[in-house]
Amino acid sequence: TETLHIVGGGMAGSEAAWQAANAGIQVVIHEMRPKVKTFAHQTGNLAEMVCSNSFRSDDDEANAVGLLHWEMRAANGLIINTADKHALPAGSALAVDRDPFAETVTATLLAHPNISVDYEEITELPDDGHWIIATGPLTSSALGEAIAMETGADALAFFDAIAPIVYADSINTDITWLQSRYDKGDTEENRKAYLNCPMTKDQYEAFIDALLDAEKTEFHEGETAGYFDGCLPIEVMAERGRETLRFGPMKPVGLTNAHKPDDKPYAVVQLRRDNALGTLLNIVGFQTKMKYGAQTKVFKMIPGLEDANFARLGGIHRNTFLNSPTLLDGQMRLKSRPNIRFSGQITGVEGYVESAAMGLLAGRYAAAEISGTALNVPPPETAVGSLVHHITGGAEAKTFQPMNVNFGLFPPADAKAGRKNRKTRYKAYTDRAKVAWQAWLDGE
Ligand code: FAD
Repeated sequence: TETLHIVGGGMAGSEAAWQAANAGIQVVIHEMRPKVKTFAHQTGNLAEMVCSNSFRSDDDEANAVGLLHWEMRAANGLIINTADKHALPAGSALAVDRDPFAETVTATLLAHPNISVDYEEITELPDDGHWIIATGPLTSSALGEAIAMETGADALAFFDAIAPIVYADSINTDITWLQSRYDKGDTEENRKAYLNCPMTKDQYEAFIDALLDAEKTEFHEGETAGYFDGCLPIEVMAERGRETLRFGPMKPVGLTNAHKPDDKPYAVVQLRRDNALGTLLNIVGFQTKMKYGAQTKVFKMIPGLEDANFARLGGIHRNTFLNSPTLLDGQMRLKSRPNIRFSGQITGVEGYVESAAMGLLAGRYAAAEISGTALNVPPPETAVGSLVHHITGGAEAKTFQPMNVNFGLFPPADAKAGRKNRKTRYKAYTDRAKVAWQAWLDGE
């Protein structure tokens, strides 16, 4: 049979290899470490955890990442099963003893009769054969350049500049209103594409003070090479002058407060849809390196966001990722070169667990294709399905930024469960997902 080549033996590549090999496919993993290093990895092991040792919440009834654990267990996932084997006490989270974890993943893959590992850097996009590229946030620069040549430089980012994302249903719409600047737009929907939060002068001044005072995170050594123009953190903009934001992302022009038409706002914070469902909104231009605790405090000072729930907080990191919504099909194939799949964090998911989950899917897709069968895209009601639907279609391509799994990516569950309380609502999501995932695994 034909060989599957996987570039990168991280979270995604390791899981993809395991899934495909168990389906009877011959797999070669190409891993550049330890020969070529990254600024974050310390060892030559496959599936090395570069920072925190946590797989986050293990609660599969009330948490989307816990649900992802559950789905991967049901699919005999190597990464999750090995994490379980080396779990450390961490309350309801799944924390992992990182060295034995990576050593076990490496040994298990090396011992698999269908898998071999080639320790070399891949620097070009292959012309033929079956390939999965899972080189992660720290993809080597030679391969990064080759990818950018194929996709166009605009479709491959080397940093993420993540603005915080808010659950739409946690915003106080008695204060905010929907309007695009100068009512621009060809349709009613486009003329109301932004949700506006007005600030008085006092509120603005207090907000700037809080930004300047907030605790920030530092870049890692070696992380900032080639760093950003045009995506400055908001606190850096504030440092350049107290008025900078009022003339930048917070400018109040072209907007009329629908609740108080005569009251001219001094500054306006704008939010914009982050997914097609409209359940998630990002705060426009608000990328930041404030620490997470500081972010929730500072952003809740924005009128209308006092009780905001955040689907994710802002950040800026070295992170190579594709504009997947324009480049990949639902089978995670590069549309311009369908012999190549992408998987893991380079597809625009974020985190160890999400990356492993995308590896699981890519490995199964590739194995099915090589065996001459086809595998359906998992339904969006599942955690794996919600992620792949988001990155290959649901997300806004123009503002695409890496995403953690969260219930905002799922089609809304049973409306009756909806308003009761969060626990009941999340249980409705996870119950529905488990049935749908099992059916998908069973080929229904
Ligand atoms: P990786 O696990 O990075 O694996 C990619 C592999 O490809 C690597 O082994 C690399 O050596 C190899 N490779 C790269 N280029 C080539 C090439 N050209 N040829 C051959 N091999 C190549 N996630 C969390 O959940 N929690 C955290 O706390 C966290 N902290 C992070 C801190 C930093 C500094 C970074 C960079 C990332 C962090 N992440 C964290 C994200 C996490 O590392 C990723 O989500 C996850 O590892 C991605 O899995 P992956 O398989 O896509 O990539």
